[in-house]
Amino acid sequence: MPTTPAAAARQILVLLQEVMASRNSAQAKLNKVVEIIGQSLSSEVCSIYLVREGVLELFATRGLKQEAVHVTRMAMGEGLVGLIATNVETLNLDEAAAHPDFSYRPETGEDRFHSFAGVPIVRRERSIGVLCVQHVEPRRYEEVEIEALQTVAMVLSELIANAELADDGPADARVAETGTTILQGLQLVMGMARGHAVFHQPRIHVEHTVAEDTEAERARVISAFAKMREQIDRMTGAAEFGTEGEHQEVLETYKMFAYDEGWIRRINEAIDSGLTAEAAIERVQQRTRMRMRQIDDPLLQDRMHDLEDMANRLLRIVSGQLGTAAQLGLRQDAILIARNLGPAELLEYDRRRLKGVILEEGSLTAHVTIVARAMGVPVLGRVRDVRHKLNEGDLILLDVAENTVLIRPGPDMDEAFENKLHVTQKRRAEFAAMRDLPSVTTDGQRVELMVNAGLREDAQALDLVGADGIGLFRTEFQFLVSATLPQREKQQRLYKDVLDAAGDRPVIFRTVDIGGDKALPYMQRDGDEELEDNPAMGWRALRLALDRDGLMKAQARALLEASAGKVLNIMFPMVSEPWEYEAARDLVEHQREWLQGHRKKLPIAVKYGAMLEVPALAEVLDLLLPRVDFLSIGTNDLTQFLFAADRAHPKLAERYDWLSIAILRFLDRVVRACVAHQVPVGVCGEMGGRTLEAMALIGLGIRRLSITPASVGPVKAMIRAIDATQLQSTMREWLDSGAPDIRERLTQWASDRDVELT
Ligand code: PEP
Ligand code: MG
Repeated sequence: MPTTPAAAARQILVLLQEVMASRNSAQAKLNKVVEIIGQSLSSEVCSIYLVREGVLELFATRGLKQEAVHVTRMAMGEGLVGLIATNVETLNLDEAAAHPDFSYRPETGEDRFHSFAGVPIVRRERSIGVLCVQHVEPRRYEEVEIEALQTVAMVLSELIANAELADDGPADARVAETGTTILQGLQLVMGMARGHAVFHQPRIHVEHTVAEDTEAERARVISAFAKMREQIDRMTGAAEFGTEGEHQEVLETYKMFAYDEGWIRRINEAIDSGLTAEAAIERVQQRTRMRMRQIDDPLLQDRMHDLEDMANRLLRIVSGQLGTAAQLGLRQDAILIARNLGPAELLEYDRRRLKGVILEEGSLTAHVTIVARAMGVPVLGRVRDVRHKLNEGDLILLDVAENTVLIRPGPDMDEAFENKLHVTQKRRAEFAAMRDLPSVTTDGQRVELMVNAGLREDAQALDLVGADGIGLFRTEFQFLVSATLPQREKQQRLYKDVLDAAGDRPVIFRTVDIGGDKALPYMQRDGDEELEDNPAMGWRALRLALDRDGLMKAQARALLEASAGKVLNIMFPMVSEPWEYEAARDLVEHQREWLQGHRKKLPIAVKYGAMLEVPALAEVLDLLLPRVDFLSIGTNDLTQFLFAADRAHPKLAERYDWLSIAILRFLDRVVRACVAHQVPVGVCGEMGGRTLEAMALIGLGIRRLSITPASVGPVKAMIRAIDATQLQSTMREWLDSGAPDIRERLTQWASDRDVELT
């Protein structure tokens, strides 16, 4: 066995090429193939299973009993072979029988063989068969052998497809159904859209796998890389999205892949093993995909999508099959359908024609989501199998707020959707008209309406909705979208841009809330702490920041310098005890003194606040409040800790009510303490963005809300319609008497007074 994967695969491929070129029957070719592979890997058994009518059938074997050929059949998911095919994954076992999925087939005579390795034979991202080897001796197969098997499986997929031996992957089959279908997904970017399905791009299917001239294949890859880099450079330099912003950072990460020497090297190695340029790119991609699947890290998986995007682009260039739906003349009302998209791929679309995006994958922190938000295109993610449930051109109604996609709706559904869209647009126009009206109750009480933000672009929302400032700037967003730890200068630039966009309006910066489930792949954690059973209650936010104070010092400097000549409002997340707040404040103060000593321009004032998210802090407000300039209640975390109910758990989402007496009494106590200490208090959790809940908060005496920009209009309309004094005394009665149904009572109270709750 040669010692490098390329040499091992090449040796087999040379022999296979002859087999493929011969005029023998497909069955005879497969029989020859198992002989060649078995001999080359000195393997006692080599078998090929193919998917026929949805079942895996033993098609050829060397080493197992020949009587089993075309007799041994396994369902998808059954036995080791079924497992490999279903998961599209490699298995490498020294003792096959010890695996829980092992299924013994006596007709094969396989009981003598202990070790087992199998790889899927993939076409159009699905398994069309399995190639496996077995040994009597229990041993694990070496990496070179597995790699050789995987390369051979690629070539086999071409042979099998040409001979039409197996079921073809259904990826391109047209959808038979024509009726209405409703699919559910995950909200990524809010909005509604009506349009027709446009497939982003059928993946490039590699047709020719074995190279005739290795040098020529190398040259093709080199020129394709040059072309791709040129495209990416052009895109990153494009003026349309400006030169600043998170999407720019996203594109920089993307550029990193285009210039990654390791990637080119791996592709060249695959070409050395005898593959064509296309097959080599696909081969490297398959391997990366398999590796990434084993890593359970959403951030790394997001990067993987960027890499998939690049690999697809490279494949398109190298195979001359240029053109995504973006370049092929997009229809007026396109709703884009894709497994996933890279950020650069999305940027290629004409924003005026692109009405929405539906992805089979996707996540909130993925780069493509951030770019879509900047483009103002609604996105629904994690819509399972959507590509196989509709046809190009099908009518689609996308309603992200409802988490739904309606495919091929009936006329009445279409009409109802149009009506809702119309009402939403009308309401939006009404709210927009209220932009400059004061947020004051009918009895003259002012309620500050601020917005939650985290990206540079979000600051623009201030003007758009007429908010009083940014009540929560989640600084960790910049850390989450970066491939590396953002340098202090970069942080400072972002903060300054946000302050400039806000003008005279205040911006409350929250120091980073990272750690726990918002882990940064580039940040090393100390060995033991790597896995947390309970990340929300783990080493996160201020806890982590105080332990790793280098990070916090850099951020403090960036915030202080960015606020030169202005007021800096800074608050700390997840404060559990007053000393944590004190320590964080001291740290910032030290940085301020240092800057002063170095004659740097400073903020005219620094205002310090604490977030109240951990219930314990409410018990020590008498100690904390005299030391803070303001308090901000983070109801998202606070309520999950009060009810011991994970805020992200879908089964608990509806279980506890924000208007339950427990929460309201708790908040009431906090507000009363703040009033007694004359400390301004606001709410910055999602609760404040819902009109009924916001009304309850005003009834408790809250006069500052920081909410999502889209909620400013509806909440302001509610504020302008209520009498806060009356509401507050009514709420007082309900809280004191322990009314169990405050939600119903509040709804009734609003309806009696014609207060519209959107
Ligand atoms: C909160 O917990 O309510 C909050 C505003 O912070 P985050 O949602 O970022 O945890
Ligand atoms: Mg929080």
